[in-house]
Amino acid sequence: MPSPERLMPELEKVLYSGYVAQGEQVELFERAFEGFVGSGYSLSLNSGTAALHIALLLVGVSRGDEVISTPLTAEPTNVAIKMVGANIRYADIDINTGNIDPISIEANINKHTKAIMVVDYAGTPVNVPQIQQISKKYNIPVIHDASHALGAKFNALKTGNHFPYTIFSLQAIKQLTTVDGGILQLSSKEDYERGKLIRWFGIDKKMSRLDNNIQFQGYKYHMNNVNATIGLVQMSVIDGILNSYVDNGKFFDKKLQNISGLELLVFYPNSEPAYWLYTMKVKNRSAFIQKLADNGIMASELHKRNDLHVYLNDFNQKLPVLDEFYSELVHIPCGWWVTKEDRDRIVEVIKKGW
Ligand SMILES: *Cc1c(COP(=O)(O)O)cnc(C)c1O
Repeated sequence: MPSPERLMPELEKVLYSGYVAQGEQVELFERAFEGFVGSGYSLSLNSGTAALHIALLLVGVSRGDEVISTPLTAEPTNVAIKMVGANIRYADIDINTGNIDPISIEANINKHTKAIMVVDYAGTPVNVPQIQQISKKYNIPVIHDASHALGAKFNALKTGNHFPYTIFSLQAIKQLTTVDGGILQLSSKEDYERGKLIRWFGIDKKMSRLDNNIQFQGYKYHMNNVNATIGLVQMSVIDGILNSYVDNGKFFDKKLQNISGLELLVFYPNSEPAYWLYTMKVKNRSAFIQKLADNGIMASELHKRNDLHVYLNDFNQKLPVLDEFYSELVHIPCGWWVTKEDRDRIVEVIKKGW
């Protein structure tokens, strides 16, 4: 969060402005976000889940369709697929990154496949060029859940530039938070305009209520001026926030090499992770977590693989690479709150063994 001196006057101003609903600040926040991403259109929403839902609607995914997705993610990624009545077909993951494996995506494509959902898990970029290639070859659009990956890059371009639909979550624990909120980053103006209607009951805010004529199902997914004001003030300090994650991540990349029982991720060439969390693979994981806990450091497995939820397991598939990765997966904190002293101590504790 920016300093109270910076945030509170803005917040006070908007709270007592007489206009807390969706208005000018929302508009300004969207344009600022577009500036950050560097291209396209930013549709602001009240959650990342709303962004996932609208992306699926814009693609036209509906009942009976299949979406190829990753099991290693936060639940909203896959719950959103069920919101439109589609079935989830999981691809296996890449052992080096924990992200969806392009070879497995291709092997899972069939005549029902309507979209491919990919996630930069923990801030690690997916294999962008290979996924783009598959999308083109089969003419299946990609939805990029970048909820962990604000500011991550591939080929020097920020997340939000690689696929037609990119989701950012601005929820409490994400890099940029508006308390709750989300962005659907779109490459097409047409999708942006339609997305605006979907986010507000199918009603066009530019026209009077009486002139409106609802044509399709909409929702109440818009962002309000209060959340947008928090977002706008954060945009002014976002580079510093993101850098502190990356700086800590690169520190761990360097200092945690060649430790017995610990394996680091191998990122794709030309990718620059956001390091939302620092992900590793460790042998004897419960002892590792306990050892760190004894030293006041919180290490965790974090997410449950989504195919273990009965509602999110449509095809009961075998996912052998995930089985292996998931048994060793662990995260340590990497965010702006991890100080230089903290990270030195984390490395020291890990190096003593577990
Ligand atoms: C946080 C998160 C979401 C959902 O975002 P909300 O803003 O909480 O709705 C979606 N996908 C992933 C991978 C997330 O981590």
